[in-house]
Amino acid sequence: KKKSVLVVGGAGYIGSHMVRQLVEAKWNVVILDNLSTGSRQLVHGGQLVQGRLGDVGLLDQLFSDHDVAAVMHFAAFSQVGESVDQPLKYYRNNLAETINLLDAMVRHRVLRFIFSSTAAVYGEPEAIPITENHPRQPTNPYGNTKLAVERMLADCDAAFGLKYAALRYFNAAGADPSGEIGEMHDPETHLIPIVLKAASGHINNIQVFGTDYPTTDGTCIRDYVHVNDLAQAHLLALNALFDGGASAVYNLGSSSGYSVKEVIRIAERVTGKKIPVVEGPRRLGDPAVLVASSEKIKNRLGWVPVYDDLEKIIRTAWNWHLKQIS
Ligand code: UDP
Repeated sequence: KKKSVLVVGGAGYIGSHMVRQLVEAKWNVVILDNLSTGSRQLVHGGQLVQGRLGDVGLLDQLFSDHDVAAVMHFAAFSQVGESVDQPLKYYRNNLAETINLLDAMVRHRVLRFIFSSTAAVYGEPEAIPITENHPRQPTNPYGNTKLAVERMLADCDAAFGLKYAALRYFNAAGADPSGEIGEMHDPETHLIPIVLKAASGHINNIQVFGTDYPTTDGTCIRDYVHVNDLAQAHLLALNALFDGGASAVYNLGSSSGYSVKEVIRIAERVTGKKIPVVEGPRRLGDPAVLVASSEKIKNRLGWVPVYDDLEKIIRTAWNWHLKQIS
């Protein structure tokens, strides 16, 4: 049997870009996805198994049928606001289901794991840029579930020798330049896809959440990182585990921050459209500034992001958006 990577959530936004790179790197890829937020449309390659992480029988069958060398886990709910209103939905999916997955891995002696974590584990930052040892004080259930999994992973390493990389994403954005896969959430809550919908006239305007933050133009500053650069970092982290590397936690960001108004201005330049803006109140739980230090993964694993400015990132998102609406 050829060795496989099991990609849980491989039919989602980031997972589908990961699958593409694994296939390019000649890995045999098995995707487990319940298609609750993912889509068949995003699966180009790999073998899709539609099912739930809660289905222990299915997990046993997957690990018996395939020679799984490592697991990558992208299957989580990720909307902060929703997690505040429906915390148990988040604990069930993001935490309890991950317990099932790790339990099956340990039973089948699959001991390499790459985990999608988040900048939300830091909460309100005490210093910018944020390094990996910044205190973890999530301010919402979503961040709590991700931090709980990180802690569970450390405990599983100590108990079972499970080797893992937890990758704390800042703002994932952009799409594969092929235009075949990209961001597709329903409802869409992320800034860049919403801005592009406003540019193409699919919505009337973009509402800016808060213009009274202590930043240069009063709007929130975020660190946008291209989804293919994220996927590349996962491959490096995976290879480091195969080389016998220790478990590690890494930030993934571009190390530069853009305000919401700057994002809109750059999107206007990329699309050539005037984007109608409405200024609204702050969104609950939004820190003013989130910018990563990604020096650790650059230094240790040689990660080199290709999409080093926001215009390049938005260009790929616009390419995907135009294909979606045509
Ligand atoms: N944002 C906004 N209007 C929108 C969606 C987002 O002003 O319709 C702002 C949001 O307040 C934040 C930034 O854009 O400061 C990025 O938000 P997003 O939801 O894309 O990512 P998050 O930072 O929450 O992970």
